[in-house]
Amino acid sequence: MDGRSPLQWIERVLADLTYRSPFGVVWSASSEELPIRVEIHPADRPTYSVVLSESDDDTVSAVVAFAVQVQEVLTDVFGERRAVSREGEPPPDAGSVPACPLHDHALVAARGDEGPSWACPESDWSRPFGDYEDSFWPFGPDARSEDVNSGIFRHLQAAGVSWSGGSNLKKEDGDWVLCVRLRMRDDSPAAVRQLRDAMAGAVALVRVEVESVTALRTVRYRKEPENGPPYKPGREGLRTTGASRLALLQGVLRRPVAEETCDVVVESSPGRRTRVRLGFDHETTDSGSPFLLDHSSSPFADEGDEVALGGGYLPSGHIPGGAPVFFAGSIERIDQPPHSQGVSDGRLRP
Ligand SMILES: [Zn+2]
Repeated sequence: MDGRSPLQWIERVLADLTYRSPFGVVWSASSEELPIRVEIHPADRPTYSVVLSESDDDTVSAVVAFAVQVQEVLTDVFGERRAVSREGEPPPDAGSVPACPLHDHALVAARGDEGPSWACPESDWSRPFGDYEDSFWPFGPDARSEDVNSGIFRHLQAAGVSWSGGSNLKKEDGDWVLCVRLRMRDDSPAAVRQLRDAMAGAVALVRVEVESVTALRTVRYRKEPENGPPYKPGREGLRTTGASRLALLQGVLRRPVAEETCDVVVESSPGRRTRVRLGFDHETTDSGSPFLLDHSSSPFADEGDEVALGGGYLPSGHIPGGAPVFFAGSIERIDQPPHSQGVSDGRLRP
């Protein structure tokens, strides 16, 4: 099965069938183990339920059968929506998903040479599940700019290329031109070359503009300790300007282990680890001390420090009830309480 988990196959089937969908389709899965019940929630429509069933030795057939059922559901949903949004009769294949890139009909889920695949019923065109969007890459001059944008984003992600300054897509003399804004610290010749190489063939020109923004939107601040009862230790913080605090997460800063894909971990009680993504610019070190650096590579906090983060929880995947990830817009490192009391105010003397 190409080493893919059942959940990864479900993701691929749903991604192919909702590519260019006229409205949002949200889905959730009952578990990671077969049989998996998938609840599909298309915009304002009722929820549909499709099962990827257990299969003794033939998972390919089970995945193909699952795709056929989801395709039936979404063909109805999209076809009906188009019929409602257009006056008069919709064309017979209005809701056909995924649309054949060569003809005016839907592709057929089938067992292909490369595993479960979408196949054209009238030619030998086929693509494995999950590779449907890639069949439109690179885009011709007549492609829709939304498709080109989403294709570029996906392609750069797959190539491991990222930058923080944003971009916009233009058409000049019939060619797609991608204008990329790089912040000053990211505009090394190697980074620019990597970007151009990843986009080669997809757009006619990658134009690079450099923004003279260096400190980004992260603010570093310091709160001094308050003396007298109740004593409050000092804090040092990083925050994104304008970050809203929906939830507070407090605990001990830990380095993530390999399977915890996140920036940092916060242990709110022994063994209770929450994975955290930091929404502001920062750096982490692979080993050694300190662990967390701010946007300018200055040390900020280390493993074992007490921290308080403001942000919110988001589900980490498609399985309801799975451990959520905390997205933090701010982090404060809380100073260790002093070992001797009252030294700073000068009232106590040895
Ligand atoms: Zn076809």
